[in-house]
Amino acid sequence: AKQKGKNNFQLYTEEIKNKFVRKRKLAEDLKYAIENHQFFICYQPIINTMKNKVCSVEALLRWKHPFEGMISPGEFIPISEDNGTIVPIGEWVLRSACFQVKQWQQRGFYDLVLKVNLSVRQFEQENFVEMIANVLKDTSYNPQLLELEITESILMQNTEQTIEILNKLKKLGVKISLDDFGKGFSSLSYLTDFSFDVLKIDRSFIQKVLIDEKSAAIVNTVINLAHQLNLRVVAEGVETEEQFKFLVNNQCEEVQGFFFSHPLPVEDFERLYCT
Ligand code: C2E
Ligand code: CA
Ligand code: CA
Ligand code: CA
Repeated sequence: AKQKGKNNFQLYTEEIKNKFVRKRKLAEDLKYAIENHQFFICYQPIINTMKNKVCSVEALLRWKHPFEGMISPGEFIPISEDNGTIVPIGEWVLRSACFQVKQWQQRGFYDLVLKVNLSVRQFEQENFVEMIANVLKDTSYNPQLLELEITESILMQNTEQTIEILNKLKKLGVKISLDDFGKGFSSLSYLTDFSFDVLKIDRSFIQKVLIDEKSAAIVNTVINLAHQLNLRVVAEGVETEEQFKFLVNNQCEEVQGFFFSHPLPVEDFERLYCT
């Protein structure tokens, strides 16, 4: 930072002000981003380590702002959760992704599984389960081929009501995955409160697996624990062949990360996987 005339305190407050102004602007712009066609979805392939082939894709939302350019979900998802726009945006993602993946299934990738991220704010909606059921119906999407990814933050408040909703979702036939496991406060009790189908180990552990014996022990133990609870395990953030081999040796069912593929725009996924 330059010291020209301004003291550090002024620079600091200016930076806070700029951040605040940007945030307020993005919050406003998020309200019109769907109708202005500024969103698109990238699909990151996930590999089944037994079959050695792509078995699923995770839908990851992208926002191309007309003036600011690409804005990362790490920045705009929290803003959209704050002002509630995540509710219509989340539904748009689910609907668009079911529609897209259904087409890929029909074109021959018949057992391709779709994974979609859900926010707490969506869960809080009165008609949440109905919304999911409607999207499945409207897109005639097979619920067995949909995995909803939630984080433990959903289970931290209002547990009883949340579990009731999760059970209703399972009755629809969809699978429930616990995302970012190990990243937050991960209490093992979440695993006994509800029977998840899939556990996704956070990438912070995967990235240290060959550097740090403790991380390796944790990943190995989490995989074994998950298997004893009848959960499938996904490792995210796999960036190297060594990490991949470690996970295969430790019986991890699915792997996801830049070592295999970045999240891909529709055209790229089709070119590479739907021949
Ligand atoms: P996430 O659910 O944990 O998604 C995985 C993130 O890890 C993605 O970041 C993906 O691009 C990134 N990733 C995948 N492989 C690797 C790797 O090998 N190395 C590294 N360093 N990163 C990898 P992305 O797309 O920026 O999304 C960030 C977060 O934004 C997601 O984390 C998710 O929490 C949220 N998000 C994205 N799309 C949606 C959405 O449609 N709805 C909701 N509620 N949240 C979303
Ligand atoms: Ca996820
Ligand atoms: Ca994750
Ligand atoms: Ca996440």
